[in-house]
Amino acid sequence: MKIVEFDIKKLKKITRENCFICQNKINTENIVFENKNFIAFLDYYPSTLGYTLLAPKKHYEDISEFSKKEFDEMQNILFRIVKSIKKNLKPDRIYLLNTGEIVTHFHIHIIPIYYETHTNFVDVLLRKRLLKLTKMERKKLSLKIKKSI
Ligand SMILES: [Zn+2]
Repeated sequence: MKIVEFDIKKLKKITRENCFICQNKINTENIVFENKNFIAFLDYYPSTLGYTLLAPKKHYEDISEFSKKEFDEMQNILFRIVKSIKKNLKPDRIYLLNTGEIVTHFHIHIIPIYYETHTNFVDVLLRKRLLKLTKMERKKLSLKIKKSI
């Protein structure tokens, strides 16, 4: 695992037309959870180890588009993913974030915060430095999270 400098402004905006979530273009080694309605996967640009995204399969752009049933299901899945990350990766804290400026398909960022990232949490959120993981490292990491969900 390497650490690389990164500028989040270089990312291309993902709209309904070029949406990788709708087009089912998530690499299987990144997937930590999937059912009929939701998918969770390791972020392609992680600033901390285990940085995970949870998204509905429908292209919603904000939470107001969810039915109550879908929202409740998402909360349940979110809870299980957070518990698994806490148990298996042992971060000090887990941040949750939702914006939708770059990837407009609704998703929740599940961001494990470790001892060394407390002091630079703004850089973590702005993704100034990224962890560059190999395909095998991503596969091992997703399995680690997946096993307890
Ligand atoms: Zn989409």
